[in-house]
Amino acid sequence: LKQDNQMVSTIGQKLRQEIADNGLNHMKKNFYTITKMVHVAGTPEQMAALQYIRDTYASYGLEVMTTDYDVMLSYPNYSQPNTVSMQMSNGSWNLISNGLGDIPLGHPNLTAQLKADTRARNWWNGYGANGVATGKLVYANYGRVVDFQYLDNSNISLNGSIVAIRYGDLFRGNKVQEAEKRGALAVILFSDPIDYGSPDLSGSDLNNTFPNSVFMPPGGAQRGSVLETNGDPLTPLYPSKPYTYRIDISDVVNGVTAPNIPVMPMGYRDAATLFQNMNGPAVPAGWVGGIPGVNYTLTSSVSFKVTVNAITPTRQRIRNVIAFMRGTTEPDKYVLLTNHVDAWTFGAMDPNSGTVAILETARALTTVANATGWRPRRTIVFCSVDAEEFGLIGSTEFAEEYLKVLQQRAVALVNVDVAVAGNVVIGVESTPSLYNTIIKASKLIPNPNDNELSAGRKTIYDSWMFYFPNSSFIQGQPYMSIPDSGSDQSHFLSYVGVPCAALGYDCDPNIRRDCYELYHTMYEVPWTLENIIDRGYKALTAMSQLWTEVARDLADSLVIPFNVNDYATVLTQAISGLDVYLKGKGVPDLLTNSNANYSAIIVNLQDAASRFSNAATIIQKNIDAVNSGESSASLRQVEMLNSRLMGLERAFINDRGLYANRPDARHVMFATSIHDQYSGVLCAGVYDSAEYYFESTNDIQRSAWLKSIQVTLSELQFAVESAILLL
Ligand code: GLU
Ligand code: CA
Ligand code: ZN
Ligand code: ZN
Repeated sequence: LKQDNQMVSTIGQKLRQEIADNGLNHMKKNFYTITKMVHVAGTPEQMAALQYIRDTYASYGLEVMTTDYDVMLSYPNYSQPNTVSMQMSNGSWNLISNGLGDIPLGHPNLTAQLKADTRARNWWNGYGANGVATGKLVYANYGRVVDFQYLDNSNISLNGSIVAIRYGDLFRGNKVQEAEKRGALAVILFSDPIDYGSPDLSGSDLNNTFPNSVFMPPGGAQRGSVLETNGDPLTPLYPSKPYTYRIDISDVVNGVTAPNIPVMPMGYRDAATLFQNMNGPAVPAGWVGGIPGVNYTLTSSVSFKVTVNAITPTRQRIRNVIAFMRGTTEPDKYVLLTNHVDAWTFGAMDPNSGTVAILETARALTTVANATGWRPRRTIVFCSVDAEEFGLIGSTEFAEEYLKVLQQRAVALVNVDVAVAGNVVIGVESTPSLYNTIIKASKLIPNPNDNELSAGRKTIYDSWMFYFPNSSFIQGQPYMSIPDSGSDQSHFLSYVGVPCAALGYDCDPNIRRDCYELYHTMYEVPWTLENIIDRGYKALTAMSQLWTEVARDLADSLVIPFNVNDYATVLTQAISGLDVYLKGKGVPDLLTNSNANYSAIIVNLQDAASRFSNAATIIQKNIDAVNSGESSASLRQVEMLNSRLMGLERAFINDRGLYANRPDARHVMFATSIHDQYSGVLCAGVYDSAEYYFESTNDIQRSAWLKSIQVTLSELQFAVESAILLL
């Protein structure tokens, strides 16, 4: 058997051509239909959007199924918005935030869409607790661990106070959790112009904000979930089916997963009033924001009152729409494409630019299949999932329900959440085995950006290499980050062990501080994409082409197109990075009194990494020989290679979880940071154990975490040994 390279390039070319020639009208129609109304998960508007997507897949001739789950969600009372008031010297309360965003005027089409569903104006955070809190204000910068430590060290207590935290740098849920731990009664999350406003004049150039630009206007605010875990909070690790045991809601609220305090977001229109009425000690350097005319200080002597009107139904119906393009020779091998459909408001960029792209990918693949008789070897599964915004709920429940199936049959997963936040360069998260697949595909996609083209960058790969030339691990490759838990790939990677990537189009990183200032605002409407972010849907077209080519390659290559050597390179570096960290922390000395010898442990681990590299080199040679036609392989031999490749990522899954409190994080190589759900980290079991050791306040804790360092190191080695045996 050998791959018919002629056929491969003909089909790939036809797919790109189909999207280029006929994509625009389909994209527009789908985009406008899905984003017409606010479609928060669990609402009739979202069910209607899902039905439209289901019908669209069916109209392409795909088999469609739906998977429903009844889960705990959270909604505002739209007719009783959240508010903040301030106490006046005579004891009365003055409203300083009405909890509603501003609708811009001056562009009739834009205004008309925003007025079509005024629920888009409400400022709320998913899973903020219902209630009223009164207290003095404390400013905690970005709400990073170091920010809270600064306040602790300055003897500024959060106990009994309302904490104002600016958005940015890390997942908002982690900010709230840290504030609540210190006794905060409520949290206000605000968008500071220095982070989200115009980059001119320290963010305060009001003429250069939306709708004149992509920058956050004063009356705009980022919504978002503050849930600390992924999946339905009531059914950890198991799918929310009718038969499933639900934990008590008080375990969720009094545990660590959802806050027990009111939380609300606000724009700098209102945050200005907060800071104008603060009078405490000056903030340290780096904490100064960009609200015009404001002197940032740490505390207030006046009291503020936060009122959050929230409801949290515990059995709200959500629905994933799953469509199948059946493979020819290996129909029981699945290449999964995922995108969520639910949004906080209209969802134009997040997530429905991605929804348009997944539908376009499905349309192109089925159109070319109908025209040529070609079909992929493996099954492509299009997953339009629900309730991502609340905490990756639809995708997590799906991965939980289909765990055993996915372990057996999943080849890889490629997620596109926000397909276009900008139109200059792609941003990629990926596990190492997919690095090369994505690079190869990106070289085939024409650059959609005229400025990039006139700078001589012909393909999206060229721009990628230009803006992000430095891989963290592999010489000569563009930068790709470790997948984190910011979107739907999370549970598939960290729980099931499916190789994952996430793709999106971004802005020029050298010009803007944040590529997506209007994230989770009411301004996420088609007008914004068409007029500001991606005129002519060009980047969206390129993103659809890229996603389609990656899917085609994964589903149709004779040998699954993973690069095992890249995995070995990352593994080797991860282990040496771990060694440097542990030595720097003095961990080897801590272990001398136990029966473990650190140098022996690390030498063994490095030896395992080098044996893994050797095994990878052998497998990779075989793969390359088959692909080049240099060695002709039998069907059985190709199957042998493919089953090794499919097992590789799963070898790094530790069924028991990384350690006692993380049963849902099972991948010993790739995990989400415990301090930031938006960042991915390597070998987290060992790092976390070391960190908990140093944070421990008594000997019992210390000895438990010291043991955990040794256990997680040996479990890491066990995973590498398993991967070697499997290869
Ligand atoms: N993407 C959503 C957000 O950023 C959910 C992330 C998560 O729950 O991990 O708000
Ligand atoms: Ca569950
Ligand atoms: Zn999203
Ligand atoms: Zn989102």
